[in-house]
Amino acid sequence: MIQRGRIGWLLAFVLLTNGPARAETPVDPPTTGSVPAVTAPGPSSGQRLAAASRSTLPAAVSAVRITGDARRTSLSLDLTRAVEMRAFALADPYRLIIDMDEVNFHLGAQAGSRGHGLVRAYRFGLFAPGKSRIVIDLSGPATIARATVAGADGAAPARLLVELAATDADGFRRANAARPTTNLARRGDRESLGPRIGSRAPAPIGPPLVVIDPGHGGIDSGAVAPSTGDEEKNIVLDFAKVLRDKLVASGRYRVLMTRDRDIFIPLAQRVKMARDAQAALFISVHADSISGAAENARGVTVYTLSDRASDADSERLAERENKADAIAGLDLSDEPSEIADILIDLTRRETRIYSANFARTLAGEMRQVTRMHRLPLRSAGFQVLRAHDIPSVLVELGFVSSRRDVEMLTSAIWRDRTADSVMKAVDRFFAPRTGVAAPTARN
Ligand code: ZN
Repeated sequence: MIQRGRIGWLLAFVLLTNGPARAETPVDPPTTGSVPAVTAPGPSSGQRLAAASRSTLPAAVSAVRITGDARRTSLSLDLTRAVEMRAFALADPYRLIIDMDEVNFHLGAQAGSRGHGLVRAYRFGLFAPGKSRIVIDLSGPATIARATVAGADGAAPARLLVELAATDADGFRRANAARPTTNLARRGDRESLGPRIGSRAPAPIGPPLVVIDPGHGGIDSGAVAPSTGDEEKNIVLDFAKVLRDKLVASGRYRVLMTRDRDIFIPLAQRVKMARDAQAALFISVHADSISGAAENARGVTVYTLSDRASDADSERLAERENKADAIAGLDLSDEPSEIADILIDLTRRETRIYSANFARTLAGEMRQVTRMHRLPLRSAGFQVLRAHDIPSVLVELGFVSSRRDVEMLTSAIWRDRTADSVMKAVDRFFAPRTGVAAPTARN
């Protein structure tokens, strides 16, 4: 489970213009009073809007430099043009978040894997439509001493600069306490995360809605294959698209994807999408990774939700998968705790029976066409399976830590065959409702 530590944060807000001057827009150090919201000298806001609408292509980040030492570290980005940005810090673990207009990252594959000074490592990607994010893992508590963006000037690229100063835990807390408590990063992520109480609108008439949830995305790449560099987020999206197309083509289902491109979606948001759409079934798609003694682990595992994990490996896996939000720099300090309600408890119990039934059916069908893990039916506390009223399973398609599994997972033939088997399981699950004859039982 993710540690719900108290999160401190620091905010620096910079409004940028595309003005001709290479004017830096300094931000107050966090130790001073007012919220820094500095507009650079330059064109009026009306002119800024006009300028913004002219250029629709995202800016590109062409280089990241980290300089300084463990007391004071600077991080600077070269950009094709200035962007709006906002920087803030989070604790548990200590991270610096830089949010900006959507940008394309033209950085090497190894970018971010190694840091310097206060920066341990960083990752980057699309965080939400129109918004990119860099999450920087810090080696310890730090405050933002300076955050600026300077426009391009002749041959010099536009530059985003954040200066970090080391502090201690108390200093971090004090700096945060002086700040307002809103956090734009959470806007939109926080509404009705808990179960809804009261009557629900009647289920819509028509084909049942199946939600396919490709894990990870955007800034959160998930597991990475050591042999080929293939990323879980792409493997599972490719599979999800094939499955979606098959389900839709059958005419028997409506399908909602929690994401159909390379974008980060918070775990709670995935659950909320399914509940808002009144889904009848939720299938989360992932690909596992394991190191150490069990490195030769292979095959499909189907997980359902349980308060107590079926085994230690499953518990560790759920912890890893549940870290997605922390990896993407979400503030998890004020997640609502689950609401205790007897009606919800009853629904939850019933839903778990359906989930377990579907998991068994799914494992039974997939077994016909692909390799299964030695223990293919397991359970643990996956955040994304928490809808109390939607049967939900999480399928780990295989292990990206296994070279042979990666070969399989990235094969179009395997995807096609395996998606067929998942559709058969979906057919069986809904057979009593849709009147579709279940496929004849195999021997
Ligand atoms: Zn995953």
